[in-house]
Amino acid sequence: LGAEASGYSGKVKVAIQPAADEGFSVVSGWSGKDPTRFPARIRAAATAIKDFGHEGEYFIHHDDGVIKIQKVSGKPNPVIFGEVPGVKSGETFPDRQAMHDANVHRGIVQGIAAEGSAIVLNEGYVDDEDNGDIIIYTGQGGQDSKNVQVADQELRAGNKFLARNYAEGIPVRVSRGPKLKSPYAPKKGYQYGGLYRIDHYWRDIGVHGFAIYRYRLIRIASQEIVPVPAAGDSPARPLPQGNQTPDRVTTTTQRVVRSTRIGKAIKELYDYTCQVCGTRLEIHSGAYAECCHIKPLGKPHNGPDVMENVLCLCPNCHVLFDHHVITVEDDLSIPQRGTKLNVAATHKLDLDHIRYHRDRVQAS
Ligand SMILES: [Zn+2]
Repeated sequence: LGAEASGYSGKVKVAIQPAADEGFSVVSGWSGKDPTRFPARIRAAATAIKDFGHEGEYFIHHDDGVIKIQKVSGKPNPVIFGEVPGVKSGETFPDRQAMHDANVHRGIVQGIAAEGSAIVLNEGYVDDEDNGDIIIYTGQGGQDSKNVQVADQELRAGNKFLARNYAEGIPVRVSRGPKLKSPYAPKKGYQYGGLYRIDHYWRDIGVHGFAIYRYRLIRIASQEIVPVPAAGDSPARPLPQGNQTPDRVTTTTQRVVRSTRIGKAIKELYDYTCQVCGTRLEIHSGAYAECCHIKPLGKPHNGPDVMENVLCLCPNCHVLFDHHVITVEDDLSIPQRGTKLNVAATHKLDLDHIRYHRDRVQAS
């Protein structure tokens, strides 16, 4: 496109960057020097992409008055689970846009943010209960424009992501808005209230007589919080490097916040199938498996949180492995079972970790 473009056809590649002044920058396709001459419709499209909570590179096609938006492949939107670096519990934001820009709650409309990474309690649902450290949160869907429940909720979209968070132990950022009827609600603007874990979820009949999904959230004490790396990884990307010196955390803490990027990667690599017994569990939120550290994390073992030190196991085999009821030989055989550990060609296990585990077998 040239600076004099009008009635033009062409495409501009933009990088959507919510933190930038304009919200985006031009990567290619725009040759003009004067930013005030930038085509208004393309600017409007780029702003809309940003406002819907997206990031990354997009082609915006303008073809005789018709705008088409195309995401440039290979750049997934980043979704941050757990704490957002630099944002403390209690921090306030003037509006949803500011919370979006700070990555606390991406998107400016939905109560449940991308992939269930965050929720906002504002007006919403009469069935919500806010007791500060314990919240009963109602899922999304089935409401008319006046927030009256007129249909059953379904376990899909945000509701399904929250159910997945419960199964995987993924924490949720909780913020409160000014319309929330609660002593914990801010007088104006929005307030980030910290990380919560989903303790339980169930299907219930709400006060309007329709099915709703309810989630019991419990605030995670600050000393329990371990860093959870940013997710948003697609399986096609190279396996993550992991962390050779993970934070030393107690077993209790890991049960609270036990989802890591490595855990996600190992489960996806094996499609949630147990490497010992071949079991693949399906629950309502999707497939379920556990990430087992061969050399345990935390003192005194200080095993690394890396692919070489993890297995994808079903809950039964995870318990048996943690209690040394099953062990793995150097040739990957499992003597107690008469079978062999299933290991993918791309999954390099560190035999030192396997020996470390084997050397600690309890005498029975
Ligand atoms: Zn198993």
